[in-house]
Amino acid sequence: MPKGKGKNNFIKPIVMIGAMAFIVCLMVCVFHIYDIRKSLEKEINEQLVVQLDIAGEILTDDIADTESVVDAVAAELGESGRGALTESQIYRILNKYKSIDDFQAITYIKEDHTIYFDNEWYRDASDMVREPLYEIKENQIYLTNEFWKDSHDYLLLFLVPVMNGEERNGFVVALKECGGILDGDAFSYLRKSGDLILTDEKGVILDCNLTNLQTQDEKYDTIYDYMGKFWKIDKEKISELSEMISDDGLSSGTVQCKNKDGVRYFYSFSSPEVFPGLRILSLYTENVYTGVENTIIIGSVASCGIMMLSVIIFTVIVFKHNSSASQLITQLAFEDNITGGKNLNFFKEFTADMLERYPGIPFMIHRFDISNFRYINEAYGHIRADQLLKIVIEEAREVFYSKELCVRMDADQFALLARNTQDLEERFFTFTDKVNTRALDIGIRYPIKLKRGVYQIKNNEHDISLMIDKANMARKTLIGEEKECVAAYSDLLANDMRKADRIESEMETALFNREFKMYIQPKWDIMEDKLYGGEALVRWMKEDGNMIYPSDFVPVFEKNGFIEQLDLYMLESACKMIREQIDKGGPAYPISVNQSRMLLNDPLYINRITEMLSRYQIPKGYIELEITETVFFTEREKMISILNELKEVEVQLSMDDFGSGYSSLNMLKDFPFDVLKIDKEFFSESITSESSKWILRMIIEMAEGLGIRVICEGVETKEQVEMLRKLGCRYVQGYYYSKPIPAENYVESFCGEIA
Ligand code: C2E
Ligand code: MG
Ligand code: MG
Repeated sequence: MPKGKGKNNFIKPIVMIGAMAFIVCLMVCVFHIYDIRKSLEKEINEQLVVQLDIAGEILTDDIADTESVVDAVAAELGESGRGALTESQIYRILNKYKSIDDFQAITYIKEDHTIYFDNEWYRDASDMVREPLYEIKENQIYLTNEFWKDSHDYLLLFLVPVMNGEERNGFVVALKECGGILDGDAFSYLRKSGDLILTDEKGVILDCNLTNLQTQDEKYDTIYDYMGKFWKIDKEKISELSEMISDDGLSSGTVQCKNKDGVRYFYSFSSPEVFPGLRILSLYTENVYTGVENTIIIGSVASCGIMMLSVIIFTVIVFKHNSSASQLITQLAFEDNITGGKNLNFFKEFTADMLERYPGIPFMIHRFDISNFRYINEAYGHIRADQLLKIVIEEAREVFYSKELCVRMDADQFALLARNTQDLEERFFTFTDKVNTRALDIGIRYPIKLKRGVYQIKNNEHDISLMIDKANMARKTLIGEEKECVAAYSDLLANDMRKADRIESEMETALFNREFKMYIQPKWDIMEDKLYGGEALVRWMKEDGNMIYPSDFVPVFEKNGFIEQLDLYMLESACKMIREQIDKGGPAYPISVNQSRMLLNDPLYINRITEMLSRYQIPKGYIELEITETVFFTEREKMISILNELKEVEVQLSMDDFGSGYSSLNMLKDFPFDVLKIDKEFFSESITSESSKWILRMIIEMAEGLGIRVICEGVETKEQVEMLRKLGCRYVQGYYYSKPIPAENYVESFCGEIA
């Protein structure tokens, strides 16, 4: 895999956005919970203070009620006391009111210090009651432990003077137990929340209702004592609370603190109006919230959890979607959907990577295609043709694998990066062989030939596209009919390609400007020693007077298709010449013109020939079409039928360059040729070798036997003429008689006399 490319570059931001959204959610969640806790604490603290205030108010009301009962006792004792009150009368009144309220005792102390109890006894109060109490002039309520000399319990005392007109007869003292205050309904909520303590402004515990049983065993004088010893609250906090509690101007408040074990405590207090010096304290831990808090927090955590889960799910979905999208993009960018292999993009990156990593390995780029793939496509259908492309990639994978790669670029074009090993050609041969075997398996009987251009990569070369182009340049030099189907790139080749490019750029104008000239080379009847006809050969006369030979431009035109136009132009020139000769009444000889393979593949070819011959009214047999033998190596049946059609047009047909390739005498039997042109290479061999001479004689005899005329090309000497005559060859063409000459010169030199 080429490094770094094709990876999911956009997955990173998605993951980051997902992670950020998750963190934000988490922070919102934590903040939300913290906020809930804070406001809950505040709410509950306020609630407790409100509860304390309400309880204080209820307590005040209760005390006012009790006071009015005691007032009623004093009033009745005063009313009745106008005369002298009997003891029994006093006891009756005391008893009557004692049952109305929950008094511990109701007493009546007369001016003479006699004290009457509700349980119907009396005594002298001097040694029981403290002195200042005798002085009361108006209603007084005390919370004190200093009333009875022999008791130190705190008691709630209601003192009301008993008046007889302006004169005081004594006073009523009603007692209530201090401990009962916190047991009232008003404090039920507070009792459930924690410890409830009644203190004076100095923090002295007057009464307490403790939820913690452990505290029952020990006695604490002040709440500060209790806070320090039992709850382990540090001194600083204790003094903060003591300052608040002792502050007369502060009726309520809350102090929050943490003990040494990390438990948080809250101390809320309130002062009932009736006792400015009295403090009702509620002591509770943070556990008081937990019930409410837990429900709210669980709800919040759950909704935050759902939120975070949604973010995670969303991120995962986006991530998955994008990774499959990116996979698809990578696939589209680097894979070939027809072969299932890699594509050119991948090839370029792979090659660059290999060259960088293994500079010591001699790498080559091969650029190949399937010869006549168009025919395979048409003959076997595109599905099988596609299968063939797939086979090529699959087999290439088997043969070229270590640091090597073969990809399909486009259509039937392939690129291969291969190590230039000694056995490379052998490997390629194996590969072609395997492709052929597999092609047969899928029913393609047509032999698979891979035309290949090769480029040896030089050191420090980096332009992969240029390397591929160079290999392709070499491939393009192959027309497909060569024995060898591999061509290597060379600078010479590049030069030729440049030349070819120039030719291509100029050809159209050249045809228009009539720069292509018809030269004629005479053909000689050596038996009768007279002209038999001529072959039209093209020459390109440039404007500057330079002449270019067909070997320089015909192969270029054969590749780009321009040869078709040129051949028809030459045919027309020949027709024109013959017509002119006939019209002049001068002798006219048959002219042969060379015809390229491309023409034969043109479906309108026969029509064109027919039209041209009839336009120039060419008599039968005056035009001979020369077709090189290589044309007949492929599509044999199709070629036979085309030649048969041509025969009907009444042209002569000759097989050109016989003996230059894999000639087969069979062809003479199957194809309707009139003439067999023996190539000069084959002929020149016959001169030196006896066996070749013998073969030539056989060919001549056999052709004659089939009614085919034989003409030998490239005859340059008198000896050659003599030898051919002896072998029975009647017609020759060559420099011995004449080089190709301009058509006008040919007419002038050879067609001057009336035949
Ligand atoms: P070809 O059709 O076999 O033409 C015969 C070639 O042999 C000609 O080369 C001719 O000049 C050459 N030749 C003839 N006698 C001798 C000889 O005694 N010694 C030597 N050394 N050569 C001899 P040329 O004109 O250069 O043409 C080369 C080839 O180019 C032709 O071979 C033909 O295949 C092709 N060609 C020429 N004109 C045309 C054309 O108009 N259309 C097509 N399609 N091909 C053409
Ligand atoms: Mg020829
Ligand atoms: Mg020839």
